[in-house]
Amino acid sequence: MPEGDTVFRAVHRLRTALAGKTLSDSDFRIPRYATTDLSGARVESVRSVGKHLFIDLLRPSGIPVSIHSHLMMEGLWDVHTIGAKWRRPWHTARVVLRAGDIEAVGFDLGVLELLADPGPAVAHLGPDLLGDDWDAARAVENLAAAPDTPIGIALLDQRSLAGVGNVYRSELCFMRRVHPATPTAAVDLPPLVDLAHRLLTANRLRVTRVTTGATGRGRELWVYGRDRRPCRRCGTAVERGMLGEPPAERSIYVCPRCQTR
Ligand SMILES: [Zn+2]
Repeated sequence: MPEGDTVFRAVHRLRTALAGKTLSDSDFRIPRYATTDLSGARVESVRSVGKHLFIDLLRPSGIPVSIHSHLMMEGLWDVHTIGAKWRRPWHTARVVLRAGDIEAVGFDLGVLELLADPGPAVAHLGPDLLGDDWDAARAVENLAAAPDTPIGIALLDQRSLAGVGNVYRSELCFMRRVHPATPTAAVDLPPLVDLAHRLLTANRLRVTRVTTGATGRGRELWVYGRDRRPCRRCGTAVERGMLGEPPAERSIYVCPRCQTR
């Protein structure tokens, strides 16, 4: 699942390519919007809220409409000049937007819909780690409201705070030396939430996600994806487990020595 910083980068690319421009063509490749034509609409803004991505448009008629998308597991927004080779097969494209010589293609989007009012789509989300209105105190409060939930599950709940995905939950628990199965009530939340904010902010425009401070290839992360390899702190073999509520069980990586229950 993409993390908040992945979505932020996608927004940055789309904004640079499309903001302020008028769409010359749109091609929705899902039945519901097969006949939708957004040509002539002006791109007012491109923004993310947590992992939700919005392209806000003003139609020639003066009526606003927002393209709401969510990358879910496999989604990708790509931007290139018209005629360039696509990064994924054409049949995985869900929407193509063109403006001048620029083409933005949304592949395998988990959510793709047009909304007259985009507000309700994200009303359930907690404070956005990369939002201008980030509110650490409220995120802590939200997490604390479910004291029995293991922290490794609580961190993925976008209703508490928006932006943490599977990579960050492993890294955050390791860096705070907390076992992910620890009930949230037993975790010192403010420093954890603060760390999440700092990590996502530091990575928001980086191509490669780094939590260790070392940008060398293979050195970027503490534990994620490193099962059976030595912990960077103590040398103990990192373990991979599953943590989540079925069917959303996801891999989690733990150093059994650094992270005690
Ligand atoms: Zn260790």
